Amino acid sequence: MAETTSAPVPSDHIMGVYARAPLAFERGEGSRLFTADGEAYLDCMAGIAVTALGHNHPKLVQAVKDQAEKLWHTSNIFRIPHQEKLAKLLTDNTFADVAFFTNSGAEAIECAIKTARKYHWANGQPERIDIIGFDGSFHGRTIATIFAAGNPSYVEGFGPALPGFVQAKFGDLEGLRALVGPTTAAILLEPVQGEGGARSWTEAQLKEIRQLCDETGTLLIYDEIQCGLGRTGRLFAYEWADGAADPDIMAVAKALGGGFPVGACLATAEAAKGMGPGSHGSTYGGNPLAMAVGVASVEELIKPELLAHVREVAGYLNQQLSGLKDRYPDVVLDIRGKGLLIGVKLATPNREFMQHARDNHLLIAGGGDNCVRLLPPLTLSLDEAREAIGLLEKSCEAAQAKAAKEKAGAAA
Ligand SMILES: *Cc1c(COP(=O)(O)O)cnc(C)c1O
Repeated sequence: MAETTSAPVPSDHIMGVYARAPLAFERGEGSRLFTADGEAYLDCMAGIAVTALGHNHPKLVQAVKDQAEKLWHTSNIFRIPHQEKLAKLLTDNTFADVAFFTNSGAEAIECAIKTARKYHWANGQPERIDIIGFDGSFHGRTIATIFAAGNPSYVEGFGPALPGFVQAKFGDLEGLRALVGPTTAAILLEPVQGEGGARSWTEAQLKEIRQLCDETGTLLIYDEIQCGLGRTGRLFAYEWADGAADPDIMAVAKALGGGFPVGACLATAEAAKGMGPGSHGSTYGGNPLAMAVGVASVEELIKPELLAHVREVAGYLNQQLSGLKDRYPDVVLDIRGKGLLIGVKLATPNREFMQHARDNHLLIAGGGDNCVRLLPPLTLSLDEAREAIGLLEKSCEAAQAKAAKEKAGAAA
């Protein structure tokens, strides 16, 4: 038989690090993805919170086309006008004064870690190297970022733990306080955990952590790679604390390029004071093509009407998901998250539920703690949200039926 894109085993020639669904897409339009046979799927995962403006967004397409015909790449040893423009857009709209551009989220976290350590080094305290992270967090797949997050299944087999990474328990502020000491450089957290199952810190907790950092000269790093850029209904999730829990350093990526690989490490001028010429770099990071797309993307994402739309659609989805939880208590245990970063904790296996959703032509993401995540494009319409709930209801029915059948089988 000829190789097809729907074969259960995708390819012998790709490193087998993903358990891929036997499904491939040829084109996208807004919240829809289409296979080569023209089958439409409602996309409520957006490439894991990346295509925040939907697929084939006219402004992003135009930005790529225009720049592709002019200039793709020069080097960071020259000025890059679009990079300066994107840095201004991001710093004008956040706590930050400066930006460093990367090609991915993990690289943005790497830059954040280096910036924090170099800050203490510049202050004459080179012993302050420890980065405190939390269980359930995810910061990427490089050697440093897997140890920063500390997820046991992601570090297994990759050698001894890197020194300088300490793990705290999510939500345990007393425990955190006890861990901060003379070698602490920074506290690193996602204001709303993504992969970990959409667990959100409260504003009160973030304020307390900010205070702890101020008292101890510790830097506060937010990973808003997934929860940032409009996903929670504010431009950044930390804004929900209304200025009382701003970070010193923040990593962003995912939605920043809307599907083009771009990340950024943002920092206050003070926190970045150790990062002088030669201290860091990237060949591709911030190149003209990536920055042209980044500018177009952020110009859309900062629009107040888009953020209001996110809050409206999120409110609708949350209310409807609570209804599903009431109607399918054997399937849906809990609804979590913030805005359009929604976690649905399940009683039945999440991988199976994702398959039921795909059978109904709905795409959703997995997550830790047996959750599935809804991460739709921020442009998802209310009609599409209604459709998604209908498809989730069918998926709940399928999961319930399967569980009932298995129970009957076990009893027989
Ligand atoms: C996706 C993600 C990362 C890693 O980003 P990559 O671009 O895959 O390196 C880091 N932190 C969070 C919160 C993420 O969601």
